[in-house]
Amino acid sequence: MTFSSLGLSESILKAVTEQQYTEPYPIQIQAIPVILEGQSVLGIAQTGSGKTASFVLPILELFQRKKSTRNLHLKVLILVPTRELAVQIGDVIAGFSKYLTIPVKHNAVFGGVTLNQQMMTLKNTEILVATPGRLLELVSTQSVNLSKIEVLVLDEADKMLDLNFQEEVNQLFALLPAKRQNILFSATLDTESKLIQEVLLCNPIRIEVEAEEKSTDLIKQTAYRVSPEKKGPLLRYLIKNKEMQQVLIFVSSVRTADNLTDKLKKNGIEAMAIHSKKSQSARTEALNRFKKGKTNVLVATDLASRGIDIQFLPFVINYELPRSPKDYVHRIGRTGRAEASGEAISLIIPEDEHHFKTIQKKMGKIIQMIDSEGFVLSDL
Ligand code: AMP
Repeated sequence: MTFSSLGLSESILKAVTEQQYTEPYPIQIQAIPVILEGQSVLGIAQTGSGKTASFVLPILELFQRKKSTRNLHLKVLILVPTRELAVQIGDVIAGFSKYLTIPVKHNAVFGGVTLNQQMMTLKNTEILVATPGRLLELVSTQSVNLSKIEVLVLDEADKMLDLNFQEEVNQLFALLPAKRQNILFSATLDTESKLIQEVLLCNPIRIEVEAEEKSTDLIKQTAYRVSPEKKGPLLRYLIKNKEMQQVLIFVSSVRTADNLTDKLKKNGIEAMAIHSKKSQSARTEALNRFKKGKTNVLVATDLASRGIDIQFLPFVINYELPRSPKDYVHRIGRTGRAEASGEAISLIIPEDEHHFKTIQKKMGKIIQMIDSEGFVLSDL
């Protein structure tokens, strides 16, 4: 199967080749033709499956086809749960729209940066990527008009619900025209949720790619049994011993993220933290430095566990376990992505053991436990 057989124009195929996408992923094979026909889609897929291109490419193709009769108003709204995901999707749109015959103006808006700055850039925007809260603010200042939206994309819908965006999304739905194409992606499908129910009303084509368990197959998972006071030394031992050049470390609080980052730096390991108490510019900078390999270690709260695409990330470490097994899968899913392999390591203190068993049971996988007792950690 090739991208050209999916009905994409030369101008888009050129950008696809430039991004080194040689063959479409399964989700792209399924979603692109359906979206091009104007049908609604309910996609069960997680980050790493290639879902971004599966909606960005056909949306841009629809623009390419309509080139001569376009009015410059907002036509496509892509709602996302986090700022990082908004920026990331904006980048994907920029990459694929480079060679369109008539350029499409797109924009990404999210909280944490001044409203004014974003208001100024919205004129003539045709595709908008937005987080719900910021979008509502922009609507209330009349900087955005949602009444002519033709395509609505809800990305990471389950995360949107976890982050309690239901209320805001409902308010936004009320402002959208009833007749529109809906494209919803979610890693899990909770048909009880109002958000999903609303999309179900339009009889979407359902697309499902690889179950969560399957997608963890490429990831080598290990766990180290460790006492709470030896966690820090063990972490540093693993980073040095396994010569980790790029590792994403998950913790459960902002405070631990900052403390751990300081400790690593004191021990000569290049580390930065990313969490909700950091300014947007600090978050973007940390992520960029990490992606470019200028910082070896990124310490993150669950904010970064979904949606962030870092190509070929070789290591993820759970310094602290997440509460939900679902989050565990999302966290470790940051590695072994796009058909590359990776290693996910969890540090398990005695009080975590029971919870870690629950996670393994939910995943249907037994993870090898290594005792760190015998490791010589003291001089690290
Ligand atoms: P996503 O699930 O959209 O976050 O995509 C995961 C990763 O796969 C991203 O780094 C994409 O650039 C990459 N990707 C998506 N589709 C393809 C493809 N057909 N060929 C190669 N890489 C792809």
